[in-house]
Order: sequence, then C-alpha cells, then structure tokens
Amino acid sequence: MLVVIFFSRGAYDRGNTDGMSGPVHCCQDPRGSEPVGVLCPCRAGFLMKRLVLAGGGHAHLSVLRALAQMPPTDIEVVLITPSLFQNYSGMLPGWISGHYTQAQCRIDLRALAQSARARIVIGRIVGMDAGRHCVRLTGERHINYDVLSMDIGSEIDVSWLEMAGERLLPVRPLDKFFDAWPRILSAAQNKSGYRLAVVGGGAAGVELALAAQYALVQSEANGHIDLVASEPGPLVGYAASVQRRVAQSLSRARIAVHRLRGAGTADGILLSDGTQLPADCIIAATGARAPCWLTLSGLTLGENGYIAVDGHYRSISHPDVFAAGDICTRQDTIVARSGVHAVHAGPVLAANLLASLRGGQMRVYRPRSRSLYLLACGRRYAVASWGGWSAEGEWLWHLKDRIDRRFIRRFSNPKQQHATLSEKESNSGKNI
Ligand SMILES: Cc1cc2nc3c(=O)[nH]c(=O)nc-3n(C[C@H](O)[C@H](O)[C@H](O)COP(=O)(O)OP(=O)(O)OC[C@H]3O[C@@H](n4cnc5c(N)ncnc54)[C@H](O)[C@@H]3O)c2cc1C
Repeated sequence: MLVVIFFSRGAYDRGNTDGMSGPVHCCQDPRGSEPVGVLCPCRAGFLMKRLVLAGGGHAHLSVLRALAQMPPTDIEVVLITPSLFQNYSGMLPGWISGHYTQAQCRIDLRALAQSARARIVIGRIVGMDAGRHCVRLTGERHINYDVLSMDIGSEIDVSWLEMAGERLLPVRPLDKFFDAWPRILSAAQNKSGYRLAVVGGGAAGVELALAAQYALVQSEANGHIDLVASEPGPLVGYAASVQRRVAQSLSRARIAVHRLRGAGTADGILLSDGTQLPADCIIAATGARAPCWLTLSGLTLGENGYIAVDGHYRSISHPDVFAAGDICTRQDTIVARSGVHAVHAGPVLAANLLASLRGGQMRVYRPRSRSLYLLACGRRYAVASWGGWSAEGEWLWHLKDRIDRRFIRRFSNPKQQHATLSEKESNSGKNI
C-alpha cells in the first residue's frame, strides 16, 4: 500500500457553517487565517478551472505524477488528504514483521504535489453535494470544484465487532494502525499468554496474522494468534493450491484458524458455534465498506454504496466527478477491489481528468483477466498467486520486496523520473 505547495493564486472556498446548502464563499486559506483571496466567492468567470483530487490513494499517485510531467498552468490542482503521507498497505505486513521502518513504507505526498503544482489541503472529506460541485471537509470547510476525482479508499466494516470496544483495532485507516501496533506489541511483551485475534480471511487478514505471529516470536513475547476466517476459510476466490500453501504457512506458524463467523464481545470474540475466544486485541481486516456520507452526496451509487462509474472512471450520474480505487464500482465490468487495479487505473484516470478539463478523447481501463499477488508470510517468505498458478519461497519475498520498494521510489522522486506514464509502466508496482 503510497505535499504541498502550489503556485496557486487559487483560494479555498470556505463555506458557511450551515452545511452544504448555503453559498460557498470567503477566500481564506482553510489552514489558517491568512487571506489568499485573489479569487473569490464565485468562481464563475474565473478562467482557471479547479481540479480537486480527494485522497492520495494509489490512482492519484499516478495522476499527480502525470501532472508533474507537464505541470498545468491552466488548471488549479488541489489535493485533499488527511495526512502528508500515503502509507503503502502492501508493505504493512513487512513493517509489522520488522523488515521495514515506517518511513520505508510510505510516500511523502509533498514532493509529488509540489512537482504537480498541486496545493495540499489537510483534511478529510465528510460530505459532498454533487449538485453544487462542492465537498465538505472536517472543520466545516467547503471546497468547490470544476472536476472532482475521488480516490479515498474504503473503510473496514467493523459492525460485527464493535462490542469489543477498545480491544478492537481496524487495519484502516492505516495511519492509526501504524500508530497503534507498537503499543500492541509492547503489551504482548508485557503479558504472558497475550492473545491476539485477526478477523478476516482475505489476503490482508492472512498476511497480518502471519506478520503478527512473526513479530511476537522475534520480540520474545509469549503470545498466541487466532485467525477468524468465516466458514469458507482463508483466501476464498484464490486457487486451491494457493489456499493449501498458505494453510501450511499458518500451521507452521501455529496460528489457530477458525472457519466460523465472529462477533465482538467485551472479552474477545464469540464464534458462530458458541465458543468464546478470549482476545486482548482484535485486528479487524474484515470486508470493505463505503463511507456512509456518500449516500447523501447525490451521486448514483452502485452495489454496497460505492460510487458507480463507467469504464472511464467517471460517475454515471455526474460527469464532473471521477472515482478510482476501492471507492468506486464499475458498472460495465467486474473489477476486484485491490491495490493492483487502483494502480493500473491511475494513468487512465489521469488522461481522462485532463480530457475532461481540456477536451479530448477519454480512455477505458481494461483490467487483465488475472494479476500477480505476492502474499507475505511473516518471515522473508512469500506465496505467489497468478490465476490458477502458484509458487512459494524466499525468492518470491525478495521479488515482492523489490517491486514494493520500486513502487515507493517511483513516487518519491517525481522530479528525477521523467519517463512517460503509461499503463505498462504502472504495472511495475503493487505486486502486479
Ligand atoms: C494489510 C493489507 C495488505 C494489502 N496488500 C495488498 C497487495 O499486496 N496487493 C493489492 O493489490 N492490494 C492489497 N491490499 C488492498 C489495497 O490496500 C487496497 O485495495 C488499496 O489500498 C486501494 O487503493 P485506493 O487508492 O483505493 O485507496 P487507499 O490506498 O486506501 O488510499 C486512500 C487515500 O485516501 C485518504 N482518505 C481516506 N478517506 C478520506 C477522506 N474522507 N477524505 C480525503 N482523503 C481520504 C487516505 O488517507 C488514503 O491516503 C492490501 C490491504 C491491506 C489492508
């Protein structure tokens, strides 16, 4: 899983505080009180169009990089992000295992945004009114857009686990997880028989369980890990050979796998067969869900409340809104919700955003029928999955390591990398 400055004469529209309905006005920099207002309230008549990039997710890294190749002088680019860093989920298990420092697993968005002449606004979008071309941020700030692109990822659905209260640690937002994990490890070191449960049988749940187990062993903590993976067991949808290889890794690591559903309780997890699983900490890597504020946005949403887009990653209801990555759902084909596709769609999204602002041909992202996934197994060992093919070994971990580091490098030195962005190039990251 990868700012700010801008030449900008642009102002941030700061809305009145009565929600999204009132006129957006006031030309103040939302980060401070200094007026920046050359532009004002009504952007009508102002020649420079505003492109708002919401979230520094995988697809937007490519968009920023594409803009950096030819910094726009006719478009005001604004990046809204809760953090100056984009954490790379693909390296999170390796960080837990102690193979990486946190700095090695994240992309500093400042350099990227600076090269793209994008201004960063630190904040989280908490609402939008698509009819008024406006997004609402934390702190009652509002920003208008001519074109909006959303790459804000998904949330973890913890509805079944909420009763676990403070024991619960969702893997997203990644920033919070990065902050919390050292405390969990320290608690495990200080309590003999510490019990950690990972809920979620997808690739993330499996990798996190294996990484956590490795970290406990390395830190000489006397702990135990449970993986709660619903009835079908871990890695549904992967080839049987991949499931077998991963099951062997889990067994070697002495991780107890429960093929049952789990609900949070005050003491841990209640499994669907009635067993109470005690847990000091529950890591939730359960299914993804869309932020609920989207339901009030006015955008047409698809299955499970994600933004419905066409092959151009354009909203099917609002042509000035684009969305890519986990937050969207294609209406014309099925695309798995994964970093691989978010990365691959990036260059296409970049081209389409510019086409929409300046005119030109839109491109369609056609997902490949299969992608390579490399699953980290705690130690420097990985299982590869590519359609029906699978393999495992230390060499695959080193391959993953090279790919992941290259991904971080590619977006960390935008000025030093002048290669033209293409879909082919984007294939070199995220375990493609
Ligand atoms: C442990 C783990 C390992 C994984 N490994 C792999 C892997 O190896 N290969 C793979 O293909 N997939 C992997 N995935 C899945 C992958 O992480 C996601 O599919 C991918 O991150 C989706 O990318 P995205 O660009 O949609 O969103 P993200 O990468 O989540 O980026 C979203 C960005 O938007 C920001 N944001 C969030 N909310 C808001 C808001 N309201 N306003 C503004 N900004 C916001 C976030 O801070 C973040 O910077 C893994 C997931 C996990 C949890």
